[in-house]
Amino acid sequence: MRIGIVPVTAFQQNCSLVWCTRTLRGAFVDPGGDLDKLHAAARQTGVTIEKILITHGHMDHCGLAGVFARQLGVPIEGPHPDDRFWIEGLDDPDTRMGLPGESFTPDRWLGDGDTVTVGALAFDVIHCPGHTPGHVVFVHAPSRVAIVGDVLFQGSIGRTDFPRGNHSDLIHSITHKLFPLGDDIQFVPGHGPTSSFGHERRTNPFVSDGKFG
Ligand SMILES: [Zn+2]
Ligand SMILES: [Zn+2]
Repeated sequence: MRIGIVPVTAFQQNCSLVWCTRTLRGAFVDPGGDLDKLHAAARQTGVTIEKILITHGHMDHCGLAGVFARQLGVPIEGPHPDDRFWIEGLDDPDTRMGLPGESFTPDRWLGDGDTVTVGALAFDVIHCPGHTPGHVVFVHAPSRVAIVGDVLFQGSIGRTDFPRGNHSDLIHSITHKLFPLGDDIQFVPGHGPTSSFGHERRTNPFVSDGKFG
């Protein structure tokens, strides 16, 4: 498994290109915009893109995912159906906060415990509501890597002041669904630098072990 990060949109959202080194087949996770950059990344790696994965329905993560899927001729998997209202809202210029975008219908909605494949790789799907109600996280356990969207950041956590955001759901998602996967899991957040669950358990002021005993 390999992973490359391409920051996209004015929000510098970390779009990930993940691929299987055995089959050279890959997927973009959260291709929210700047599609020219993403096409270039795919060309540069020589990877055949077989699908698009979405963590949640926010514009910087999926505003142009529908357009990109049409250009590439690939399906979209994710997020959880509780984010349907966010994705339908992509047709509303106010919801998009100035970014280009349009709504789409995922080819497959995801739920807790589902598996998504990329080439010969299998990612576990974990439903982590709080930042949005239908947010999912993708974990490749053999590589000890997670792609967590806007659930958890280095030193911070996702905002919960959006419609249907919920702070206690978010804390529960992080401390009961992500941290038990292991301190050694490295994660790619939706924005900013990568980190590990162990580092956040020690130092993150919102979700550290010190805060929750
Ligand atoms: Zn978000
Ligand atoms: Zn974001």
